[in-house]
Amino acid sequence: MTTSAPLTSPASQLPSGTTGRPRLIGMLGGMSWESTAQYYRLANELVRERLGGLHSARILLASLDFAEIERLQAAGEWGRAGQVLAEEAARLELAGAEVLLLCTNTMHKVADQVQAAIGIPLLHLADTTAAAVQAAGLGTVGLVATAYTMEQDFYRDRLSGHGLRVLVPDAPDRAEVHRVIYEELCLGVVRDESREVYRQVIERLVAGGAEGIVLGCTEIELLVGAEDSPVPVFPTTRLHVEAAVDASLTAAGPV
Ligand code: GLU
Repeated sequence: MTTSAPLTSPASQLPSGTTGRPRLIGMLGGMSWESTAQYYRLANELVRERLGGLHSARILLASLDFAEIERLQAAGEWGRAGQVLAEEAARLELAGAEVLLLCTNTMHKVADQVQAAIGIPLLHLADTTAAAVQAAGLGTVGLVATAYTMEQDFYRDRLSGHGLRVLVPDAPDRAEVHRVIYEELCLGVVRDESREVYRQVIERLVAGGAEGIVLGCTEIELLVGAEDSPVPVFPTTRLHVEAAVDASLTAAGPV
């Protein structure tokens, strides 16, 4: 019989919060579940990388029916959508979640409404993204996302609030980027033709001065990555998960 490495990490590697266990990550997802599945996988992979052995992420997941949310978006009923998300977030807190991820860029339009309904911190996607852009030393980014995120001010203003200049594609490009998200990526359809469209949109943003590209929709990482852009890309799903795992594994205190 051969000796093998222990499957558990030394206790010294574990976070030293008040409970001695990583903080419980609350994920409010299903918008769409195609990207929420990525959140779940990435969080578990990161925790395994950091703690080793059989360690996995402590997660509570609430997964909504995206058809209901999409209908409210299209109808402009953001207050009602915010109420649905706030109720779900409160349930996650009640069940023990210690930090909350809203697993969609677009629904950060109602982030304040959700945060107001809970006592645990919501890790804002635009803040985690802006921190990564700044760490890379860049000042101007191109934003590809849903039309709501590209055209309304809630997300761009949050990025600008961190000192970034935000460029968005022109109207025909925005329409196509949006269509691919809702008609393909949210349904698990990944097409080479659409990847080519995104590459061209990214090239036009770079020609317009973008030094980096924010993949500002949680499904876009399913379609394009660093290899599809001449400048650095900022994958919001991965960055959000990294921030959550940092918060989870950090000793109790402000996140
Ligand atoms: N998951 C996407 C996002 O990050 C779009 C779907 C939605 O509207 O929530 O914006």
